[in-house]
Amino acid sequence: MKLIDEEGRRLDGRRFDELRKIKIEAGVLHRAEGSCYLEWGGNKVVAAVYGPREAVPRHTQDPVKAVVNARYNMAAFSVDDRKKPGPDRRSREISKVTSEALERVIITDLFPRASIDVNIEILDAEAGTRCAGLTAAAVALADAGIPMRDIPVACAAGKIGAEVVDGEVKGGYVVLDLGKDEDNYGNADLPIAIAPRTDEILLLQMDGHLTYEEFEQALDLAMKGCHIVSKLQREALLNKYRPDLEENL
Ligand code: ADP
Repeated sequence: MKLIDEEGRRLDGRRFDELRKIKIEAGVLHRAEGSCYLEWGGNKVVAAVYGPREAVPRHTQDPVKAVVNARYNMAAFSVDDRKKPGPDRRSREISKVTSEALERVIITDLFPRASIDVNIEILDAEAGTRCAGLTAAAVALADAGIPMRDIPVACAAGKIGAEVVDGEVKGGYVVLDLGKDEDNYGNADLPIAIAPRTDEILLLQMDGHLTYEEFEQALDLAMKGCHIVSKLQREALLNKYRPDLEENL
């Protein structure tokens, strides 16, 4: 499948450094302490935060800090072939890396013995759901008023369009934010999450092959993507809280 033409246009008309369309809304659920609805291309995600509250069962408690439990779940109807409901290896992996990334920015030592639960529900999936999920979770955490050093954000870059000639990989382009076909038929995907104020890397995974030079290009591009998405997160939070702020001025 030809994923990019000679002029650098991708299947959906994007240039190499363009993101899919993103829409973020903070505070969409009434019963959660904090929540977020996010659309990223064809992905639709809801994140809900509960806590900090006493961790149960008690053996899960940490006497010096809160534990962060992110739970990533894909709805059965979120993909083309119905997905078997419930946790699988992939969703356990994404839950784990998301929990670890969020734990690095949440000031957990303020809440010993507590748990902070972050539910990430993927309603529609079209590649890049771990980045969309973590980005939504970060807004939901901020909406819940959980103290954090920064609002984390995630984005991926990858490589598409390489050909194998006589057993050697030739050509290809490093591009931002792979879409579904680019993810399926592309060469590599590099999702990252960062704390945007310092550019500290909170998550970095890689699928496929990149040369060292391509890796650096992809990392740079993913960082740029993160900073664009970070602005949208802040706007979403301001949209919800600006009226309150203005009222109190
Ligand atoms: P990410 O969604 O973070 O890119 P993957 O690279 O593992 O994670 O998955 C890429 C895409 O593959 C997903 O966004 C989704 O569209 C599709 N996908 C993942 N798991 C399944 C599944 N069990 N059934 C059908 N499609 C799936």
